[in-house]
Formats: sequence, C-alpha cells, structure tokens
Amino acid sequence: MATIYREGKRNATRGASGVHGLPLEFSRTFRTGPRPMPSTFQAAVLRTAGSPRPYARSRPLSIETVTVPAPCAGEALVQIKAASLCHSDLSVVNGDRRWPLPIVPGHEASGVVAEVGPGVESVAPGDRVALIFLTQCGLCVRCVEGQPHLCERGTQANREGRLITGGPHLRSGDALIHHHMGLSAFAEYALVSEKSLVKIPQDLGFIEASLFGCAVMCGAGSALYSAAIRPGESVAVFGLGGVGLAAVLGARSAGATRIIAVDSNPNKRSLALALGATDFVSGDGAAASVRALVPQGVDAALEVSGSVEAFEQALDCTRRGGRTVSTSLPEASRAFHFPLSRLVAEARTIRGSYIGSCVPSRDIPTFIGLYRQGRLPVDKLVSSTIRLEKINEAMDALADASVVRQVIAF
Ligand SMILES: [Zn+2]
Ligand SMILES: [Zn+2]
Repeated sequence: MATIYREGKRNATRGASGVHGLPLEFSRTFRTGPRPMPSTFQAAVLRTAGSPRPYARSRPLSIETVTVPAPCAGEALVQIKAASLCHSDLSVVNGDRRWPLPIVPGHEASGVVAEVGPGVESVAPGDRVALIFLTQCGLCVRCVEGQPHLCERGTQANREGRLITGGPHLRSGDALIHHHMGLSAFAEYALVSEKSLVKIPQDLGFIEASLFGCAVMCGAGSALYSAAIRPGESVAVFGLGGVGLAAVLGARSAGATRIIAVDSNPNKRSLALALGATDFVSGDGAAASVRALVPQGVDAALEVSGSVEAFEQALDCTRRGGRTVSTSLPEASRAFHFPLSRLVAEARTIRGSYIGSCVPSRDIPTFIGLYRQGRLPVDKLVSSTIRLEKINEAMDALADASVVRQVIAF
C-alpha cells in the first residue's frame, strides 16, 4: 500500500511543484542535492537468465530507460558513480543463482546521495557513500547481536527483489523491475534504504570506493573475521578474482607469514605476488602442491573460487585443527563431501563466510583507513573501467576469468 500511495501522490503532483514534478516536501531536500533528480534514467535490465554465450551476441542485459518514485521515509536516491562487476552478478545472468525477474543487477558500487526521503538522518544530499548489498535493518535479532551480515529483514527483502522499505519500485514502462540486493547498481541512479549506505570520505575516489561494499568486505573480511587469521599463520587462498585477491590482502594485513595463492590461470601469478602472496600454485592437484610447501597443511584455507572441487582441495590442504572457509555461491544443488569422522577426529572448523562476517558500518571505514595507510591496496584489483553500454562484453570477460574487477564508471 505504501508504494501505491507514494506513486499516486507523486503522479498527482507531477508538474505542480515546479521542480521536476516532485511534491514540495521532497523538492526541499532535492534542491540541496548535487544535481536535479531525474525521474527516469538508464539501467541494465535482465529479463531472462541463462542466455547462451557469448553475451556480446545474446545480450541478456539491455540498457533501458527506467523510472523510480521519489524517496519515501527511510530511503535515499543515490547517483551511482562507479559500479563493479562481481561473480555474483554473473550468477544472476547465467542463472546459477535464482532471482525474481526482470531485475537490474549490480551490488558493488559507490555514489553520491542525490535526495533523501523524510526522516532520513544518516546521510544527506551531497554525501559520498559506499553501497552495501545486505541492508542492515538494525532491529532484528541478528543485527542487535552484532551480526548484520545475517540481517533477517534484509535477507528477506533481497530474496523478494525489493527494498526493506517496500517495492519493487523500479519500472520500465508499466512493468515492475526488481531490485538486486537492495541496490540495482548497474544504473545511473539507485533508490535504496538509507541502511544500505555507509558514508565514505569526500576525497576518496569513486572507482576504488566501489570495491569496499563486496570485494573488500567479502575478501578481507573472510580472512580477518571468518577465518580469524593470526600473526604468523599459514594461509592458502583458492581463486584469485576480486574477492580472492582481497582475501590475500586481508591475510597479509592480519600478519600471515605464508600466503599461498592458488588459481587455475597462471597469469594471475604476478598480481598475487605483488599483493602479498608468498607463493603461487596453479594447475591440477593444488592441495598436493600446497602440502609440498607446508607439509602439515595450512592453518587456514580460504576458498573463493565458486567451485566445489576447489573447496574440497582447500579442505585437503588444511591442517588438523585448522579452519577451512568458503565464500562461494555456486549453483544451489552443488554439495561437497567430507568424512564426518575426520571433521571430528581432526578437530576441524568448516565455515561459510557471508560478507566476510563484517559489520559494514564499522568495517568499511576500517578498511578505507587501511587502504589509505597502504596496507590494503584495493585499487590494484581494478582491471579496467568501462561504460554501462559494454556490460554484456564485460560479463563475457568475467565468465572467462580473464579479469579481476571491471568497474563501470558513470
Ligand atoms: Zn559481489
Ligand atoms: Zn536486521
């Protein structure tokens, strides 16, 4: 009902306020923003998952003109400045992860607050922000006990392709378009909950800032929090995409003295070593190669590749009493096998890591501080910047694993 009321009200006043048809209470906040709020903008819309490759030919993402209503209470309109492509976006496109369609993907971004709804206090027009893909409602039991990466309200809203404040609010013509993870950042603007935003320094570049919401939190967080790596430990990281390389950075920041980077692509070697890996392993039998370097097995193995086989290799090269952590989200039916008796007799820990077990409002500023000290050089994860119109070609490059982070610059 809230949606119908707001849009009806907005339509009823279109043209009446003299400021882009916005009701007066919205136009007041709008006028202080960095530029006029458009009611329409360009966005990459996915209508069918699982299109054949190459995507450059099948073009599953179409650039369309979409509309959003003015922000309601608790909402903000963000002008997206940079949005990076993550493997989770590819899983939306290839159908490995099921989302309500049609949808505008994109869950790793930075931007500027253009307009806020009534009562919004945490951000104001003109603020630079990083966007986070699981809204931290601050009210549910998980949020209250300090685990907002498991926010129940945010998770439910994400599954339904809406915001925690309602929706879906995106439209293309008369058709509703779903929000991806409360953000839908492959677009010039995003209507989000204020609780999906973390303010960032005004002088931080948008390109690198876009990486903190997913790659940095999921990668560095998995090393620092989920695996709780301690100084002097040995670590193996399987899968050197943006999240995996951020895990290498996190392991180095935590004081690990042996960091073995593992990837099937030998071309990842030089970047992995430049970011702090002490060794690089490629090819078949990665677990045996890791054990050749650390015979008793590593203290912690992080699997960041999206592959069940790689996770089993990670288990194989973890020492007795060690921790094996996965950030992977492969197709939902994929399962791993491990003897229960070994889990117990070897006192192992197997842990899933979502958003790196981070508290975004605490950890994004922390990671930005480490970045500025040169201890978390996340800017080195950027392979290229592209235009929104090249998103299908960029999805091909992502599927080929030939890039780390491609960032759409707006
Ligand atoms: Zn991601
Ligand atoms: Zn919550």
